Amino acid sequence: MNMQSKLEKVEGAAENAHPATRQRQARLDLLERISSFAVRYDFEITGVNLAVICSALSGSNGELAKAFATREMSGQPIDQRWLDTVMRLDPETDARIAELEKLLDQMEYSLMRFAQTAKSAQDETSGHREALDVQIEAIEQADSGEGSQAEVDRIISLSRSMLERIAQAETAMARSQAESDRLRQNLAQARMEADIDHLTRLPNRRAFERRFKSAADEARSKGEPLCVAFCDVDKFKSVNDKHGHEAGDRILCAIAQTLSESANEDCFVSRHGGEEFVMLLFGCDKEAAWRKLDGIRRTQADKTLMNRDTGKSFGKITFSGGVAEVTEDVDPRSALIRADSALYQAKEQGRNRIVAI
Ligand code: GH3
Ligand code: MG
Ligand code: MG
Repeated sequence: MNMQSKLEKVEGAAENAHPATRQRQARLDLLERISSFAVRYDFEITGVNLAVICSALSGSNGELAKAFATREMSGQPIDQRWLDTVMRLDPETDARIAELEKLLDQMEYSLMRFAQTAKSAQDETSGHREALDVQIEAIEQADSGEGSQAEVDRIISLSRSMLERIAQAETAMARSQAESDRLRQNLAQARMEADIDHLTRLPNRRAFERRFKSAADEARSKGEPLCVAFCDVDKFKSVNDKHGHEAGDRILCAIAQTLSESANEDCFVSRHGGEEFVMLLFGCDKEAAWRKLDGIRRTQADKTLMNRDTGKSFGKITFSGGVAEVTEDVDPRSALIRADSALYQAKEQGRNRIVAI
């Protein structure tokens, strides 16, 4: 057989391959596309990242697939920040988070029920013990005939050991109750901590996600406007490079403080990750949200942050922001994508500015 006919035979074999072989090849192709996408855009290989990339590239999530294609065509950066934003379109990620929350709720509820049961068992035992105590006293003091004295002594000694056992059970239950109370408090504390960013002490992204959902529902039901805004520190990489990472951390804390001080109760401010913050502006339409955020931007730009290590100024540290109205769309999550695009525009237009779209 010559080379040509050999090749034809191989090609023919691929086309006519068994369905199982074709499926295997398709899976290999998908893996190849996922890995080259992750490497091309320099993504960390994490379970969540891979799951989202897989949902988009396999086409199992049409919305994600569209978001990926649009982004690639627009030439805007495909980075972790964008992936974090867009992954909200994946109902599986949402469902996993909701499932975890549900488990924690159940655990907290079980602990509370256990503490209640232990407490009522303890109260009941304590009641029995007191009643038994009174009975023993009464028997001891009763005038018993000669013949029955031994019998009475036996009853008294039995009752005394019972009393001792009850007292022990009571102590054990009190201990269990205290232990379950302590566990419940630890759990509540851990849940609270899980919602706080350790560097800035602002609510973190996890807390934001939850607040975002409830705020969007509330705004819709009340018919009030709601805006979301991303704020990203300008040229922060060079600030780090120039002054060091620790000084960079202090600057992030100072910016977090400016944001939370300038925003009143009508705002929710959280750290979205890295040098980026995300805000909810309650009762604000796009124009009002823009004005408010632009005011905060100016406050920050007017500040002179000092480096306590050197006693010198860090120079101007500014941020850019992107605003979008949540209630404009049926799906509130699409506002996050729009706010992200608005932030990108603010960066493109020269930074230290707010763009609302
Ligand atoms: P741009 O104006 O386009 O946003 O430029 P940028 O330099 O701020 O953006 P880039 O994404 O290139 O760099 C972000 C930098 O933020 C890189 C990273 O080291 C720094 N960063 C992220 N998180 C922290 C943190 O917790 N502490 C410190 N010190 N730096 C951080
Ligand atoms: Mg950034
Ligand atoms: Mg930045």
